Amino acid sequence: MGTNKSYNSKKSNGNSHAHNKKTSLISNVNNHKMNKKDIKNKLNDGILVYNGSLTVTELAEKLGVSAVDIVRSLFQEKIMVNVNTTLNDDYIELVALKFGYEVQKEKVVELQNFEEMEIKDDPSMLEKRPPVVTIMGHVDHGKTTLLDAIRKSRVVAGEFGGITQHIGAYQTMVKGCKITFIDTPGHAAFTSMRARGAQITDIVIIVVAADDGVKPQTIEAVNHAKAANVPIIVAVNKMDKPAANYDRVVQQMSDLGLMPEEWGGSTIYRKISAKSGVGLDDLLETILLEAELIDLKANPNRYAMGTVVEARLDKQRGPIATFLVQNGTLRIGDCVVAGTCFGKVRQLKDDLGRLLSDATPSTPIEISGLQDVPVAGDKFMAFENEKMARDIADKRKEIKIQQERKATSANTLESFMALSGEHQVINVIIKADVQGSAEAVKTALEKLKVEDVSVNVIAAYAGAITESDVLLASASKAIIYGFNVRPDAIVRKKALEEGVDIRLHNIIYNLLEEMTSAMKGMLKPIYKEVVTGQAEVRQTFKVGKVGVIAGCYVTLGLIKANAKIRLIRAGIVVYEGKLGSLKRFKDDVKEVKEGYECGLMIDGYNDIKESDIVEGYEMQEVERK
Ligand code: GDP
Repeated sequence: MGTNKSYNSKKSNGNSHAHNKKTSLISNVNNHKMNKKDIKNKLNDGILVYNGSLTVTELAEKLGVSAVDIVRSLFQEKIMVNVNTTLNDDYIELVALKFGYEVQKEKVVELQNFEEMEIKDDPSMLEKRPPVVTIMGHVDHGKTTLLDAIRKSRVVAGEFGGITQHIGAYQTMVKGCKITFIDTPGHAAFTSMRARGAQITDIVIIVVAADDGVKPQTIEAVNHAKAANVPIIVAVNKMDKPAANYDRVVQQMSDLGLMPEEWGGSTIYRKISAKSGVGLDDLLETILLEAELIDLKANPNRYAMGTVVEARLDKQRGPIATFLVQNGTLRIGDCVVAGTCFGKVRQLKDDLGRLLSDATPSTPIEISGLQDVPVAGDKFMAFENEKMARDIADKRKEIKIQQERKATSANTLESFMALSGEHQVINVIIKADVQGSAEAVKTALEKLKVEDVSVNVIAAYAGAITESDVLLASASKAIIYGFNVRPDAIVRKKALEEGVDIRLHNIIYNLLEEMTSAMKGMLKPIYKEVVTGQAEVRQTFKVGKVGVIAGCYVTLGLIKANAKIRLIRAGIVVYEGKLGSLKRFKDDVKEVKEGYECGLMIDGYNDIKESDIVEGYEMQEVERK
């Protein structure tokens, strides 16, 4: 099905829209044969771009020289080839350099792993795209009010007459420029996407209430935004309140590393009142200025790709998802794969409920036509034909099932223990009743060192364990230690879903002991063999197709049904394996003690003889000192 072919390498036949009219052929996923024009384009840069391997003839074609010239030039280097020889990368580079070109080998990414594709659009195809903004901050500091105020300002301004619908993201127009807001306040959405590897935000706004100052979730928000490495704008909200103290917020945020420009830092602060609307225009213009600086561009002339922001099952309309188009243009009739779901876009609706025919980069759009419900954070991509999209969705489903089978559970202490290798690090998030305890636990954990295993504390705060902690743990492959705090049912459920291990303790000594033993467990276990017992074969019976049953007498210790055994004949081990069955009279038993008779069969082995000795043994783990 040609899945390793660039999806935009061909024109979409019969498709009314001209996705590929101007589309660049420079995508490092191409491995189709390039036409002459492409080659010329590429060589104009003095760079030979190729992937896979090349024969002398193919290389000659790409360089526009004769194959004989290449054979000759390699001969000068004492390398004997003929026109059909497949050249390795070193030889390709050697020849290319001789003919005045640098080489660039492209990584071939299978299309079904489209998340990993690094799309390189021809710079001349790129157009400015609106910034995508996420608002974060402590609860009650005004995130929802701000999102609503921005959304309403547009509706009130009468720009559109529609009634807004919640689709998880919306766009607003400021001075003729669009800004996209992710309309799911809080860190959960942001981090859950990051946990799935989706980076959709260009700019983060951290809202801090001027009358309340920096709070635990503010710190969390700063950590999340910093981890995502995106520009931060601090919106100091509730400036209308008499108790508002702007300077205190700036001081506290500076302590978190967000120094304002007037203090020589680079963080932008804006005073706002989400409630009265004061400062909102200024904030929106600041976003545009910041966006200008980071120079956001995308190529609308390719098939769309992006991220699922929200998804649900609608009783009437079937699976509905909000996509954020991050590159390309999504159109009605396009065949898409979102996560592992296939779909053919039936309807595109914006946040005002208006039906659109297409969605360009940075546009959030509700789509129907998917055959299944994807997960927020899943990547989506549109393809040139239905068969290709279906095949890719099927392939991804298969891969997912295999991965799920493989993954026991993500970040549990046991799963860390199951790992072994060179230096191991256990990532930990600590939540405690008071900051002092959190710090104490952090210091104590960081001091632990067991051979090549160490603890890395990524966060240690006072406060209850929240969903956001779980998501941060999931994104950072960490376990959570709760000290004198307990998660509620919602958080526990989230932890289960995300496969995050939450460990709760009230006594620091117990916590450290548990961690120490886990760290020891991460080292390769040492096993020793322990013989559990021996039995002597007194008689053998051949039972039809079943095999040979040995009537034995246990002469020493115990013979266990599930233990490993070896068969010893005249002092020599003739077979090692396990028992097929162990019976006393007609009954299966778990073990038979010394001095008793039993009947046994050896799994997959029938050559048992009278006077053989069956020795049972186990591998027992030796505890590290
Ligand atoms: P969220 O939890 O961060 O989404 O906070 P909300 O937007 O729900 O706001 C919490 C409370 O603060 C609500 O009662 C809002 O009306 C109020 N609030 C939000 N912004 C302002 C503001 O600028 N000034 C004042 N006085 N109150 C505000």
